[in-house]
Amino acid sequence: MIKALVTGGAGFIGSHIVDLLLEMGLKVIVLDNFSTGRPENLSHQQHQNDLSLHQVDIDDYKKMEPFFRGVDWVFHMAALADIVPSIQQPFPYHQSNVDGTMCVLEASRKHKIKRLIYAGSSSCYGIPDKYPTSESAEIRPQYPYAFAKNIGEQYVMHWGQVYNLPVLSLRMFNVYGTRSRTSGTYGAVFGVFLAQKLAGKPYTVVGDGTQTRDFTYVTDVAAAYIKAAQSDLQQDIINIGSGGTYSINRLVELLEGEVIYVPKRPGEPDCTFADMTKARQLLNWEPEVSLEEGVGKILENIDYWKEAPVWDVNSIDEATKDWFKYLSD
Ligand code: UDP
Repeated sequence: MIKALVTGGAGFIGSHIVDLLLEMGLKVIVLDNFSTGRPENLSHQQHQNDLSLHQVDIDDYKKMEPFFRGVDWVFHMAALADIVPSIQQPFPYHQSNVDGTMCVLEASRKHKIKRLIYAGSSSCYGIPDKYPTSESAEIRPQYPYAFAKNIGEQYVMHWGQVYNLPVLSLRMFNVYGTRSRTSGTYGAVFGVFLAQKLAGKPYTVVGDGTQTRDFTYVTDVAAAYIKAAQSDLQQDIINIGSGGTYSINRLVELLEGEVIYVPKRPGEPDCTFADMTKARQLLNWEPEVSLEEGVGKILENIDYWKEAPVWDVNSIDEATKDWFKYLSD
């Protein structure tokens, strides 16, 4: 029987991967320090004998390494993910996203795992020259979160090259869906807008809302990770997107409600759009959930965002001060 280990398995994307692995009948070990992940993301699996959940920091090598014994597949999803805190406090971002990745690599090497899939981030492309953007585009991280995730990816590829560790990185584009983070930090647009919808407050649209994002539904992303683990590919980097790119105005139209505008932030691309040629050819994977369907699924579960902070123009202005301070030309 295949044994899988998911770092960050109580998090947004990790917990959806865990669901698929358990559905496949695999034994699953989750390592999570619950810094942004939540045990409730897996509470529907609590009677599952094939799942074991451990509160561990991934950058604590002595504690995390023994869990890799006998593991076949490793999904390394644990990371710190917000932009502004990464500018204000880069140290923890380095510890989790770089040192933590190094620990995962060394534990994987020691226990001769069969496959390691890294949670790559499309934020490494910054503001790219070309859309759709392919994996060979220049690396242009705009802030420490993007930088640390990319350094982590370089470590992963290097361990593949030097130690012949069977590694892959999937660079994800704007993943959204149920269980997306609701922590205190100003973050991804879906969490912000859903909390505003529940509170009957206007959506804070950045700029004029014509910027577009490659919104990719989380269960499609989780399926891509499974395909990557099942494949024979090694030492490769593959974009994972939705196949399209959608404006914030379109998102507002689907969510329905009033809007209010906030200034465009420096370093933000006007578009994110994955070139999916490699994903299609190498993984034989296609996203299945359209934006309309994805938003529908989220609205069915909107109560999840009841506890999420409700942002307004003033609190966003305060929360993004350092963004403007450090990233402006
Ligand atoms: N966005 C917005 N209002 C918000 C937060 C975000 O209009 O309160 C927009 C933002 O300008 C961007 C898109 O939503 O165009 C996605 O933002 P997010 O932070 O989720 O992802 P990223 O910009 O890192 O791709």
